[in-house]
Amino acid sequence: MRRSGAGRRGPRERGAWRGAGAPAIQTIDRRQFIGLAGLSALGLWTQPPARASSVQAPSARRWAMVVDPKKCLEIDGCTRCLAACHRAHNVPSVADQRHEVKWIWKERFERAFPSEQNVYTEDSLKGKPVPVLCNHCDNPPCVRVCPTGATWKRDDGIVMMDWHRCIGCRYCMSACPYGSRSFNWDDPRRHMAVPPSNDYPTRTKGVVEKCTFCEERLARGLAPACVEACPDGALVFGDLRDPKSRVREILRARHTIRRRPELGTQPVVYYVI
Ligand code: SF4
Repeated sequence: MRRSGAGRRGPRERGAWRGAGAPAIQTIDRRQFIGLAGLSALGLWTQPPARASSVQAPSARRWAMVVDPKKCLEIDGCTRCLAACHRAHNVPSVADQRHEVKWIWKERFERAFPSEQNVYTEDSLKGKPVPVLCNHCDNPPCVRVCPTGATWKRDDGIVMMDWHRCIGCRYCMSACPYGSRSFNWDDPRRHMAVPPSNDYPTRTKGVVEKCTFCEERLARGLAPACVEACPDGALVFGDLRDPKSRVREILRARHTIRRRPELGTQPVVYYVI
């Protein structure tokens, strides 16, 4: 029997995350990060001594996201989170819908939450688009089926992809019940809406890709690109293991649901309803 991939680590994590001495991010939300990013850019942000002494090992964290779909709907047709994510990660814009590549996208509420449907579903959410992405599941079936270890779960819960190890078998795509993974049927560099950014690697034909909770930004003390781009604070990111984090505050105060909990995948993207 194949051993579970949960907890395995890949080369990028070993090099980038552990050795980077990333600042302790106790709670991350859009406003705080805009402030921190601004201060960093000006060279004014340094870790406060009190926080520096309480730096946690990365494995002490469990990154998670809370989405508030009603806040998201306040700006009609807003897709800033999608645009920011796809721009930051050189996600190709493939015109053929069958070969679409997406890291974060909008899904009708009923489709995103089929088990939540009943006659009393709130009118404000019925038929409305909600942002969906990889759920960075605690019990990820995609990781279990990967034959090469190209996808694995880090100690901080992020489900990673190593495109160099991916052999394009697409078992992970079949195993993911959320459609959170995309396959590059063509050379993605042929489908860039804008010239690719040099800050993030482009992929190649024949590999699977998906959201990585912006692990490259977290390593620099930044919030995920989608969170930073959201003008309404509809996306909140933080550490589930920190009882004082904003995500924990929301989970305590509001009723939240997760996508298809009956499958036992244990998503850590929560939705306020
Ligand atoms: Fe894997 Fe899909 Fe869960 Fe993401 S949402 S961790 S791709 S099973």
